[in-house]
Amino acid sequence: AKNDGRGRARTFNRSMLVMLEQREMLRRSLRVALQEKQFFIEYQPLVGLSRGIVGFEALLRWHHPYAGVIPPALFIPMAEADGLMGKIGEWVLEQACREATTWPPHLIVAVNLSPVEFLRNGLTDRIAGILDAVGLPADRLELEITESVLLERTTDNLDVLNTLEVLGIRIALDDFGTHYSSLTYLKNFPFDTIKIDKYFIKDIQTNRKCQIIVQFIIELAHGLGMFVTAEGVENAGEASWLERKKCDRLQGYLLGAPMPAEAIRDFLRQSSFV
Ligand code: C2E
Ligand code: CA
Ligand code: CA
Ligand code: CA
Repeated sequence: AKNDGRGRARTFNRSMLVMLEQREMLRRSLRVALQEKQFFIEYQPLVGLSRGIVGFEALLRWHHPYAGVIPPALFIPMAEADGLMGKIGEWVLEQACREATTWPPHLIVAVNLSPVEFLRNGLTDRIAGILDAVGLPADRLELEITESVLLERTTDNLDVLNTLEVLGIRIALDDFGTHYSSLTYLKNFPFDTIKIDKYFIKDIQTNRKCQIIVQFIIELAHGLGMFVTAEGVENAGEASWLERKKCDRLQGYLLGAPMPAEAIRDFLRQSSFV
């Protein structure tokens, strides 16, 4: 038989081995990536309902010397597992906040926080220190956290979020609807914004269930006095559907792909939305 067990097993093992070796190589080089200055940030525009630019989300990239640009979904879990995400996350925060001080003062910068960073002690002091050092007003920083952050140590988490709120920092609940989505979070935690994951947006024009879910999230957020951002908006049909439903902010390739810091000035000047 051409598909005998031995042949398949051999092929499988070999590709597994290659994959594992690649992962191991990446993992090892991740340890020096920060000191070797291999990280950079791309910024993706957040666009308001009236098509004005509200700010940019900072998205981390790793330029590996041999493997090229590695997506965050691949290396961030490795960095978290190896205890490296604390330092990397601090670098992102400081870099993004410093960059934002060069933008027009009405624009915010949104920074993703990994659960590992969020649960580290002293988060609020570190953030306050960074804002102070670079001279960015607290209300120009928005932190994006996911629901998984809120699963553990709930009272501590509430303390952290309340302290951030008191400092004037905005908080967005990222990837809403994709994981555990307990409505308790919305009752207990001081979110300014809910971000609807692109998973729900990609079928928004054709899938009745997606439409009902997204419309429900928008109404829920507005009822609670929160803003809503839809991510992954790729075409005009999706944008106009979301605008009709009064979604506050749009983010996606239609409005602007993630871009290097140097491109922001030109983007703002040429943007047809402003
Ligand atoms: P996220 O926070 O949900 O970010 C949105 C992702 O969607 C980004 O992927 C972005 O490039 C992508 N995207 C934007 N517009 C579109 C679109 O129109 N269509 C589609 N299909 N995708 C779009 P990216 O940059 O690969 O980041 C993946 C995830 O990695 C992020 O998901 C976030 O969870 C994480 N991440 C990125 N940067 C950081 C960081 O600095 N710190 C932490 N902790 N996590 C980060
Ligand atoms: Ca995000
Ligand atoms: Ca707030
Ligand atoms: Ca998402």
